[in-house]
Amino acid sequence: MDFIDDELARLKHSHRYRRLFSIDGEPGPTVRIDGRDVILLSSNDYLGLAGHPKIKEAASEALRRWGCGAGASRLVSGTTGLHLELEQRVASFVGSQSTLVFGSGYLANAGVIPALAGRGGFIFSDSLNHASIIDGCRLARSEVRIYPHADIDALGLLLEKAPPQSNKLVVTESIFSMDGDLAPLDRIVSVARSHGARVMVVEAHAVGVLGERGAGGMEHFGLSGGDEVRMGTFGKALGSFGAFVAGSETLRDYLINAARSFIFSTAPPPPALASAMAALDLLSSEPERRTRLHENAHFLRSALLSLGFRTLPGRWHIIPILVGDDIRTEAMRNRVLEGGIFVQAIRPPAVPEGTSRLRITPMAGHTQAQLERAIDVIGRAGREFGLIATP
Ligand code: PLP
Repeated sequence: MDFIDDELARLKHSHRYRRLFSIDGEPGPTVRIDGRDVILLSSNDYLGLAGHPKIKEAASEALRRWGCGAGASRLVSGTTGLHLELEQRVASFVGSQSTLVFGSGYLANAGVIPALAGRGGFIFSDSLNHASIIDGCRLARSEVRIYPHADIDALGLLLEKAPPQSNKLVVTESIFSMDGDLAPLDRIVSVARSHGARVMVVEAHAVGVLGERGAGGMEHFGLSGGDEVRMGTFGKALGSFGAFVAGSETLRDYLINAARSFIFSTAPPPPALASAMAALDLLSSEPERRTRLHENAHFLRSALLSLGFRTLPGRWHIIPILVGDDIRTEAMRNRVLEGGIFVQAIRPPAVPEGTSRLRITPMAGHTQAQLERAIDVIGRAGREFGLIATP
């Protein structure tokens, strides 16, 4: 056990130790931590659907009718009507020919990237892509080329250098999970197409949030109808659990045969599938949730900027305040939590060295009073830790 003890001691010493905060009660704009109500500004349940009565009802009904678990991989014990129905619903929602459901976004990235690139292939991956994409690249055993964040010229040069006949895959997030900015998907798709490369867009933080109907970043850019592969998750704005990969019918057929995380993992359980479907209904019946989320994000970001905080560029619902060093980031998270606001300290390896930050994510259900309170508490901590000047 020496190695494990040493590693834990090293993490604690370097302020990179992660601990679980135990929360109580239903997810929502506030949660209970250690018996105290705090304002939750660190959830990806952006629209507040995880606790929505219709989602809960759909999950309960599925539980009663179909039971708790899927029993095995769909290739082993068969596929239920719920899986197929959800896949059809998602395909028409995102405007693709077909979709395939995965157990989670992590599993989708870990399975689809190797299936699309593979040995001898070339992957072009944004330098700020999520860990699950990085792991997918590692599993692919392809040549991986990292291009500087959202730098299309650099991406073009790297594509240029790859052998013309090689299998090329460009992978990017749409809204970046830890930075909150939106990739220039129109330019990425254009440069990739001109070099014969396939594009995979990971819409984990954009599905439900961006685009006219909430279908994500590709919808936002008017690119839904192309050949690009899209991954979206049900576990964030859709308040459920699982993920989908959207593309052609042939792609679906291929992934069923080639994506190891689909083949060798138990299928998502019925209550998760049913609640994902209920979430799709809610995206169209309660579009005001999306509007509220964007209003809240705009209000919070503007207020933090006017206090003098350095937020990373972007105008969406993920608002990172750059702190820099790990010690101050952790201390500030703790101070803000003492003040009744739960934001998360994000440190390496989740983000590059020297860019530790507080990641702040409002939800549609936060009231103006809750956000004002958060701004006050974060502002006071920012002054105490020297991030912003005292007025
Ligand atoms: N991809 C990105 C960009 C993410 O941010 C995340 C989760 O944070 C995932 C994939 C993983 O999705 P899931 O939580 O469904 O496994």
